[in-house]
Amino acid sequence: MPLYEYFCEKCQREVSMAMSISQHDKGDATCPGCGGKELRPLVGTFFSKTSRKS
Ligand SMILES: [Zn+2]
Repeated sequence: MPLYEYFCEKCQREVSMAMSISQHDKGDATCPGCGGKELRPLVGTFFSKTSRKS
């Protein structure tokens, strides 16, 4: 199972969790710490701004 990284708005920390691609596609992620769904995905959003090549 792939590992996805999120930032939980409630816990104010990064969480990583393993889930299936179909779960991920449904937006079915829940924080393992608080069980909340206020998760911001970190993958692909964090580094894309600075890694631009001209
Ligand atoms: Zn949380």
